[in-house]
Amino acid sequence: MRLEVHAVATGSRARAATLVTSHDRVETPVFMPVGTRATVRTQTLAQLEQLGAPILLANTYHLLVRPGLEVFERFGDLRRWMGWTHSILTDSGGFQAFSLPCTISEAGAELRGLDGRSMLLSPEQSIAAQRAIGSDIMMVLDHCIASTSSRAETCAAMHRTHRWAERSLAAHRAAPAAPDRDAPPAALFAIVQGACFADLRRTSAEFLTSNDGFDGHAIGGLAVGDTRSQREDITELVTELLPADRPRYLMGVGTPLDLLEGVHRGVDLFDCILPTALAQQGIAFTSHGRLDLQRGVYKLADQPLDRACACEACARHSRSYLHHLMKCQEPLGWQLLAQHNLVFYVRLMAAMRAHIRADTFAAFYREQRELLARADPDHPPGPRPRVKRRKPQVPR
Ligand SMILES: [Zn+2]
Repeated sequence: MRLEVHAVATGSRARAATLVTSHDRVETPVFMPVGTRATVRTQTLAQLEQLGAPILLANTYHLLVRPGLEVFERFGDLRRWMGWTHSILTDSGGFQAFSLPCTISEAGAELRGLDGRSMLLSPEQSIAAQRAIGSDIMMVLDHCIASTSSRAETCAAMHRTHRWAERSLAAHRAAPAAPDRDAPPAALFAIVQGACFADLRRTSAEFLTSNDGFDGHAIGGLAVGDTRSQREDITELVTELLPADRPRYLMGVGTPLDLLEGVHRGVDLFDCILPTALAQQGIAFTSHGRLDLQRGVYKLADQPLDRACACEACARHSRSYLHHLMKCQEPLGWQLLAQHNLVFYVRLMAAMRAHIRADTFAAFYREQRELLARADPDHPPGPRPRVKRRKPQVPR
């Protein structure tokens, strides 16, 4: 894997590059839709291809639990099994060790499988699983903690992350090349930890970059309890310390505004569940700001969701109809809004790439900082209404 940097914006650290993976040439900065369980929720592969998403994120822990690695070994890899022809980045399972019930020891993360029995995910097993999945970009197993953790806890987790990163790299180097695959070996990224302690983040970045074996670097442990300004400060601090010739990935972040701020600070890769997860709550990101389609103000609204968008939700339906689908909890509503949100994210990234290459990013950044922070200006949201509890209805 290699990174070809084409341009760095004046007055910003934003950069446009091409990431050459085993399967694609991915133009960066790029947003990767999250396909945790080998599917981007409610979206077909045809929709994702039309979207122009050249790389998806899949999750090692979830795929290990179900369907299990034997399926990928039988089919060759995840790509062939699910029918995806482009690149895949896999998370190592480190975030699930944080978000699900789990015991951490030096050996690895002890998680629960489907049958309730505990399952040890070690750095070596995570690499073996990611290789069986056929990932283009693998992550080391890291010890992720809340960004509000104490200094002692953060320090211990960071040093464990470093030891696990070295074990992951050794396992990756020791693994034999798959005999039936022509593709070049997958890339391996290290993960910088250190919560919101600037000196620990610096120590982590310096330690991991002192080893030349990692193909790229991720910033982990953000958007887990930190404020937006903490997130931006840590991102800025870390990206400054990462080598310019390797890709930088900000894990699990975030809103369109977070993406803009991340690109401005020199990040190349992003992933987040927000476009699809918020769609299920009726939230749409538009050129007029963020809209909550559950609100009654849209019941009679006959304009499209976003005049600047040509996706199916915007081209064929009114806000009123989308509001109705959301109120009825119709899966079609989730699907349409998720598609729209993904189109919005992908278009935002394409606009950023174009502005970096034209060296107009600084002005675009200033303008978008205001626009992306807005909520519907025609119907400014007031205080949240109190939710009345309904009495349980007796079935007739
Ligand atoms: Zn749309």
